[in-house]
Amino acid sequence: MAEQSSEVAVAGMKRLPREEKDQDDIDEAELEKIRNDSPGACEAIKKIKEGFNQFKANEFDKFPDYYRKLAEGQNPKFLVFACSDSRVCPSNILSFRPGEAFMARNIANLVPQFDQVRYSGVGAVIEYAVAELKVEIILVIGHSRCGGINRLMSHPEDGSTSFDFIDDWVQIGLPAKAKVKAEFGNLPFEEQIAICEREAVNLSLENLLTYPYVRDGLANKALLLMGGYYDFVKGTFSLWVPNFGVKPFLFV
Ligand SMILES: [Zn+2]
Repeated sequence: MAEQSSEVAVAGMKRLPREEKDQDDIDEAELEKIRNDSPGACEAIKKIKEGFNQFKANEFDKFPDYYRKLAEGQNPKFLVFACSDSRVCPSNILSFRPGEAFMARNIANLVPQFDQVRYSGVGAVIEYAVAELKVEIILVIGHSRCGGINRLMSHPEDGSTSFDFIDDWVQIGLPAKAKVKAEFGNLPFEEQIAICEREAVNLSLENLLTYPYVRDGLANKALLLMGGYYDFVKGTFSLWVPNFGVKPFLFV
């Protein structure tokens, strides 16, 4: 099955054009062909073109000094972990400009424990951001109605799954689930999920301590960890500095 999928992917790659094109260089005949082959592609091309033009006019061309300096190198203060959910992009909800936040996004904004075999992708982000870029703050943002946390809370733990990756990934959050079940198992399930969305952030903050660069940064007072929660039903964002045991909430 996996082999078949990769063959399909390779065949698809061979069909890709060999040269990238500037949007303005796509001629009408080519557009017509795209329109016939894949009607949705035209909408996507329009969206991408307009989106980039808007950014270029309102940002890139408006602040040439900023972007000239940024082209020489990045010096972000933040490393941000956020969910892949399309509604919670940190650049949108916290107005980060390019260069301000190094970012990792995944299902349910989870940070696994240090593991060079299973989670090298996450480890590489943390190592580069903390040890090389010297970010000053690591912010993990959870959010309301998180499908990943819902799956963590609802999927059976007997190993049965219909997913290739999702259940294995969300299991990083099992300690948070166990805590919520033990302390709040009597509450309605929806409320348990909402609590777990925050507990999973705390678990990720604890897991960050398993990375030596993070421990060094904290010991040298060069690094600060923060938890955040974006509620897109109410339109609120809360922020807290973990004290591993005490969790004060500051509402923004
Ligand atoms: Zn989510």
